[in-house]
Amino acid sequence: MYDLILKGGRIYDGSGMPSFLGDVAISNGRIEDIGRINASADRVLDVGGLAVAPGIIDFHTHFDAQLWWDPLASSSPEHGVTSVVMGNCGLTLTPCKPESRDALIGTFVRVEAMPRQSLQAGIPWEWTSHKEYLQALERRPLGLNVATLVGHCAVRQYAMGEASVEREANESEIAEMEDLVRQGMAAGAFGFSTNSNQRHYREDGKPVASRFANLDEIARLSRVVGESQSGLVQFTHGAFASPEHVARIGQWYETILKETSRPLIGESIRQSWNEPDLWRKQLNDVEERCRQGYAAYAMTGTRRSMRRWTLKDTSRLDEIPAWKNLMTLPLDLRKERFRDPQTRIELGKATAEGKPINFSRRWDLISVKKAARAENQILEGKSIDELARSQSKSPIDALLDLALAEDLETTFEDIAAQGDEKAVKEIFSSPHVLLGQSDAGAHVASGNPGFGYATTMLAYWVRDRRIMSLEDAIKKLTFLPASIFGIHDRGLLRRGMAADVFVFDPAEIDLLPPEKVEDLPEGAPRYIQHAKGIPYTIVNGSVLMKNGAHTGVFPGKVLRSC
Ligand SMILES: [Zn+2]
Repeated sequence: MYDLILKGGRIYDGSGMPSFLGDVAISNGRIEDIGRINASADRVLDVGGLAVAPGIIDFHTHFDAQLWWDPLASSSPEHGVTSVVMGNCGLTLTPCKPESRDALIGTFVRVEAMPRQSLQAGIPWEWTSHKEYLQALERRPLGLNVATLVGHCAVRQYAMGEASVEREANESEIAEMEDLVRQGMAAGAFGFSTNSNQRHYREDGKPVASRFANLDEIARLSRVVGESQSGLVQFTHGAFASPEHVARIGQWYETILKETSRPLIGESIRQSWNEPDLWRKQLNDVEERCRQGYAAYAMTGTRRSMRRWTLKDTSRLDEIPAWKNLMTLPLDLRKERFRDPQTRIELGKATAEGKPINFSRRWDLISVKKAARAENQILEGKSIDELARSQSKSPIDALLDLALAEDLETTFEDIAAQGDEKAVKEIFSSPHVLLGQSDAGAHVASGNPGFGYATTMLAYWVRDRRIMSLEDAIKKLTFLPASIFGIHDRGLLRRGMAADVFVFDPAEIDLLPPEKVEDLPEGAPRYIQHAKGIPYTIVNGSVLMKNGAHTGVFPGKVLRSC
């Protein structure tokens, strides 16, 4: 007699091995058996025709604040997420002395774009240490499992006060920081996160504290993580702003890797048009570190960055002087020029050729998002390239003829990043790259929230674009992060593992449009995002979400590395 049996699904067990039809039996929050199961259970769910996979492990979140007012960590569980890691990018709310609370709030306000009034009203501050933070979390209901990192900024603020955002640390301050990291690891943190991103400031305009660390500090704190024989180092550094910053980042990498002897998650890799070779260089850098024997990883996001515009008022094409000159003309004159054959030839050439810019210059990646007139709705979703071929005209003619026929009110869409499929396939397939950079819980006003990165992966990249097998995608979203972080009893469907299970319909799974809600403390707005084709999210053997709705239980646990 089991607690729960999932009957007749196709099992993607997280290892990357071929999927197979079978049942999963669960008791006491653990997987008891997988295969054909004839025993009975308190509850049997028919999952015929559905995929059964380990729960998604979202390893890059900023839920440090949100969990205090939203124990469900919405909208993550709607997308199959069953465990989250928070405390990334050097930012945590612990350790913290009472006099430093406002300083830590200030880093979250600016770097992670969370409203100050919500943080002030929503964080209960029942802790000063990492251990007390985890204990406070444990007193609350939790929908998901939660793992933490020790954040460099909080540790530095604790040891140095406001001097942490002004100067390098002295010997006794570094020694105190070592102690704080050691205590955090002993309390069960899954590693240490640091941040040298030159664009990361506090709300008061001062650089975040970790940016002032010298190599001695980085070395010694990384070494403490190594001493604990568990966890990893997460290093955020942003884009390469200057040669000095490139050199500095290189030194931090070298120092961390040499000193910690634990895995490192660094680079955020994204294909972008203006720096077409950057992703390749980043991938090479990670691979080189692995060749040298280090457990080094990069991460990437699954979201494509879409830009929508009309030829009535866009500045999207301003990087191309031929367009910019026309877009600044009065509307009537602009339309006249759009009709002129010679102008069209010049525009066509200037659009497709020239040095790399943020705009893709590819007609196959510009599409009709929304037609202004009913008779053109049939064209929605088609690329300009397709349109041109079906109309036997040049792409620039296809674009401008449609726009002019709709008084320039046609909405077009292009892809600003992760749009080159060949590049994306290489990035996603690299064994050194983790999938998912959701930043869930942060950047709350973004109309393109990150909760559903796994849904995007399974729907768009795997089903629609066939960029990798479903088995491989599931492995990258579950077993890989579990292994690197050392969450050893999750990320696989195997006997004895924790029963975190994600049940979805591979043919139906998809994102629904983001929605603006005003549910943050003090009524501040944020965006949420629902999914479809995900009947069950199961955490520690309990059904947490059914068809996108919370069942009312809170089966999540605080995870500890030791
Ligand atoms: Zn982050």
